[in-house]
Amino acid sequence: MARIALVTGGMGGIGTAICQKLADAGYTVVTTYSRPGKEIQWLADQKEKGYLFHAYQCDVADYDACQALAVRITAEVGQVDILVNNAGITKDTTFRKMSKVDWDVVMRTDLDSLFNVTKPFIDGMTDRNFGRVINISSINGQKGQFGQTNYSAAKAGMHGFTKSLAQEVAKKGVTVNTVSPGYIATEMVMAVKEEIRQAIIAGIPVNRLGLPEEVAELVTYLAGERAGFITGSNIAINGGQHMF
Ligand code: NDP
Repeated sequence: MARIALVTGGMGGIGTAICQKLADAGYTVVTTYSRPGKEIQWLADQKEKGYLFHAYQCDVADYDACQALAVRITAEVGQVDILVNNAGITKDTTFRKMSKVDWDVVMRTDLDSLFNVTKPFIDGMTDRNFGRVINISSINGQKGQFGQTNYSAAKAGMHGFTKSLAQEVAKKGVTVNTVSPGYIATEMVMAVKEEIRQAIIAGIPVNRLGLPEEVAELVTYLAGERAGFITGSNIAINGGQHMF
């Protein structure tokens, strides 16, 4: 039977590519969204391309909702073997102007979500002696970014989570890794003014934006059997923009 992969926030730019690549690799793919409405069109578009995904509404910042989500997915689809913590938001502004709400919503969505969503699935993975937890962080969690104290802190926090959980579950065949993309050609990045985009590209040694499919390839590799010796890692995918 096909292994089951859950991708949070799978209807966004990078998430859609991850869902598709995992499906191409033979996984049964489940995804989540927080704002109801768009899933109908997204599922229809994916079906037209030959992809059949399971989709559930769930706010990843809400602990109880995530526990309920896990119960539903397990009952209706099956045991989740691969978890991609991909859902994320930004609320950019300088620290001086940042409100407590701007801080809290990003921490809850981008960092607390790792606890909320990983918690109900990790025991099943260790019990079955196989599992993959892949956390989508950001280059800005490594190097910081003007106007992103909240986002950079949350994305940096993912690395500590990854390295600690990786040590706790390694003997049980479960790996935990972080993927840190740089600038990826999603709608959001493509929507910025041409001259700003060109300035961004000028700062990337490979001289282009990354593709969502490139991030998805990496995630799919980490999800596989052959990636069992990679754990507690943070894998940068940023065109050389930040090397460490
Ligand atoms: P998008 O904004 O396109 O997608 C984000 C997804 O997260 C959406 O599907 C959204 O669903 C979901 N989401 C947001 N808040 C919640 C919530 N509270 N509960 C559940 N789902 C939620 O972003 P990208 O595809 O660009 O980014 C995906 C990940 O990659 C993010 O974690 C981002 O930080 C990271 N990243 C992106 C980069 C880029 O260049 N694009 C660079 C580096 C990292 P809904 O609309 O229904 O809320």
